[in-house]
Amino acid sequence: MAENLNLLTSTQDVIKIALDKLGYEDSMYELLKEPMRILEVRIPVRMDDGKTKVFTGFRAQHNDAVGPTKGGVRFHPDVNRDEVIALSMWMTLKCGIVDLPYGGGKGGIICDPREMSMHEIEKLSRGYVRAISQIVGPNKDIPAPDVFTNSQIMAWMFDEYSKIDEFNSPGFITGKPIVLGGSQGRDKATAQGVTIVINEAAKKRGLDMKGARVVIQGFGNAGSFLAKFLHDAGAKVVGISDAYGALHDPEGLDIDYLLDRRDSFGTVTTLFDNTITNKELFEIDCDILVPAAIANQITEENAHDIKASIVVEAANGPTTAEATKILTDRGILLVPDVLASSGGVTVSYFEWVQNNQGYYWTQEEVDEKLEKKLVEAFDNVYNVATNRNIDMRLAAYMVGARRTAEASRFRGWV
Ligand code: GLU
Repeated sequence: MAENLNLLTSTQDVIKIALDKLGYEDSMYELLKEPMRILEVRIPVRMDDGKTKVFTGFRAQHNDAVGPTKGGVRFHPDVNRDEVIALSMWMTLKCGIVDLPYGGGKGGIICDPREMSMHEIEKLSRGYVRAISQIVGPNKDIPAPDVFTNSQIMAWMFDEYSKIDEFNSPGFITGKPIVLGGSQGRDKATAQGVTIVINEAAKKRGLDMKGARVVIQGFGNAGSFLAKFLHDAGAKVVGISDAYGALHDPEGLDIDYLLDRRDSFGTVTTLFDNTITNKELFEIDCDILVPAAIANQITEENAHDIKASIVVEAANGPTTAEATKILTDRGILLVPDVLASSGGVTVSYFEWVQNNQGYYWTQEEVDEKLEKKLVEAFDNVYNVATNRNIDMRLAAYMVGARRTAEASRFRGWV
């Protein structure tokens, strides 16, 4: 039988098992297997050539029992309804794991920003906010950056929402530039969170991070900052990739040079002749492998070829269910996306708190609070996995779903 690459059904499968293990009745699964609300919108944009192009966008709100929904907006040609729904469910889990007072939300627009001008991207961003303005707001649903969206796009969205709301509402969106109420450290937060989680995983496996060999798939926001943090901490980044190819050097790549040469979409390998393929990247002899790109990258096809003893998912959904089983059976410590990539939403929460109180924290305060949250979250999930003898993904789903399930029960929804 072909392996299941549908992110939604594979997420539902694990949520079902997690809720069963937590002792909930089927009605809880019925509530949580789909978002409470999903809006699909059409966004007409007058392009630079004078012709109108109509884009399709989504905003999914998985469950708001705990608090307002929260999650990024991605701009990508592969965006689709099922993916946005799965991503909104993962946001519920992430917020539960790091104990943030939110439910999960997610948005996306089917588009390719790599082929659009800044002006077109601005119009699309503003059009999206107008289209979803009824269901979002600082106490309803709070968007943020995701794949191919950044602080400039957040600034345009914030500006558009402030016009609609007739109010300067910085808490409407996170990941803003600092001058507009952004938090210190939001841009590097996902990678910082992954780094904290990698350090904790390495401790469990007795691996010294100094000299540890790391392979990172993806050189976007998460992958590039992560390469820098690990390199600066003394690890050897022996492989990286972007959407076009991969680079390998067993002695360690020159990360500062690569960061200097990458473009704003994370492309750098096109500058080199001696590239390797994505398939070869996963076969590199290393200690830690970090998929930090897109979904379904570690499958039953290549899970047996992985040499790393620790795999940390910085991307959303990079490992299939079958591959999760293969890696776990091989004794590889797999730290799941919903835990490993929760640093971004954690600092988004810090940004929202700072916006609400109008008082801003230093970088040191943000770093300290982030470290505390993620170390606690890692320990929590690791202990559930060890005590119940289950993989860390299922443990993370159990920890992540519990708060929303309990809040739904207290509200009398189930
Ligand atoms: N898009 C990021 C994620 O998937 C961040 C979401 C947020 O900051 O709200 O976790």
